[in-house]
Amino acid sequence: MQLNPYGEYAVLLAASLANDPPADRAEIIARTRTFGMTMSFVPEPGDHALVTAAVNDWLTVVDAADPQRRAEILNTQMAAAAAYPRLTDHDDEGWHLHYRDQNQTLAHVLRAVFSVGTALHLTTRGMQRLGRCAAGFTAGDPCRNVIVDVTRNGRQRYCSVRCANRAAVRRHRARRHQK
Ligand SMILES: [Zn+2]
Ligand SMILES: [Zn+2]
Repeated sequence: MQLNPYGEYAVLLAASLANDPPADRAEIIARTRTFGMTMSFVPEPGDHALVTAAVNDWLTVVDAADPQRRAEILNTQMAAAAAYPRLTDHDDEGWHLHYRDQNQTLAHVLRAVFSVGTALHLTTRGMQRLGRCAAGFTAGDPCRNVIVDVTRNGRQRYCSVRCANRAAVRRHRARRHQK
């Protein structure tokens, strides 16, 4: 497993697990593969539920009211899950850093990866580059998707073209009503 300098894959993995919750352990592991993790995990009783809890805790970072609060929550989560960095070379990935101890269970690894990866992403790209799809801010709109903003200009507001279009249609209707 590799945390690139921007923590991007880790935040995108967390958002993917939040937006499209996996049904079982195998799906969680498949998702870690999709986002570039290669390591195998030690089975743990109830690890699907433990990962769900880890994702839910991570969502408190997403929904933090301001950067100060966001930093406080992340610091608490890193203190609980992460360890001092250590160099490792496994699964032919090449030498890289792990920010956790040797516990290889799914939830433990993901808590460390989410917290450190998100901290790297936010401090590198900007503290505001994480949030919810703006379409969902309108009452009655069902979208609660997490957005990880990795765009060049940092102005992503919607999770998808579909949500952007739905919001545009609403704005258009609102303008027509004002006339
Ligand atoms: Zn690794
Ligand atoms: Zn959306």
